[in-house]
Amino acid sequence: MAWSGDPVWLADVLRGAGLPVIEHDGWRERGHGDFLDIRGVLCHHTGGGGPNDWRIVQDGRPDLPGPLAQLVLERDGTYRVIAAGVGWHAGRGSWPGWPTDNANYHTIGIEAVSRGTPPWDWTPVQLDAYKRGCAALLRRIGRGAGDCVAHREYSSEGKIDPAGMDMNAFRRDVQALLDGKGEQMAFLEEKITNYHGEQVTVGTLLHYLDKHMGLTLDQLAGAGAARGANFPGWDFLGDRTTAEALGVIGAALKIPGFRDPATDDRA
Ligand SMILES: [Zn+2]
Repeated sequence: MAWSGDPVWLADVLRGAGLPVIEHDGWRERGHGDFLDIRGVLCHHTGGGGPNDWRIVQDGRPDLPGPLAQLVLERDGTYRVIAAGVGWHAGRGSWPGWPTDNANYHTIGIEAVSRGTPPWDWTPVQLDAYKRGCAALLRRIGRGAGDCVAHREYSSEGKIDPAGMDMNAFRRDVQALLDGKGEQMAFLEEKITNYHGEQVTVGTLLHYLDKHMGLTLDQLAGAGAARGANFPGWDFLGDRTTAEALGVIGAALKIPGFRDPATDDRA
């Protein structure tokens, strides 16, 4: 679904993707005016690399008032939601499908905390969060991974950020997430407390649920019922299911209300 106007859903969408989020006071009101239609995500690095890089993104520099972008991605994978309004991050440049030299009003900017010089200081959790965050935002605005762009790819002003990242590989991973090969299954890794009070992943729980549901279904309806054989019954019960066998036994014992479903004369 396309989106026009400020992305007031930034925090919700990122949290919904399982990412840690810090909402900065006043983020919904912060920005240089309102977005037009949002067409993509522009990826940056801060060039600092420290825990206070967000301050410049939020407050700006002497030559450029903040906010400079909507989001800051910390090295531990946490997203800081800085602004819902327009930020000054794109500068001049172009990308297919985006208005030339006017991307600020059409793209969400992510400033990822990195020194930006070799040896690259990206952390695995940060890179993973970068891709998951981009995928979640693109899904929300109804765009594909082709609209997830490095500042250096867009810029006609010689930008180099985000440095040390292969954007084609990055986009492949983002598209895989959009295609449901990653993000939609991420919940399987979430930890929950099981019946015995142990911490297990949702995936482990589902595995045991499936196994034990299957065993239970087999006991009630015959071997293979759990594999879709559709209530075959047990041969030692005369190919009856447990319920059918109970009916037969009850009828033979003349228990009121019990009857053999195979010789049902009420039909
Ligand atoms: Zn940049």
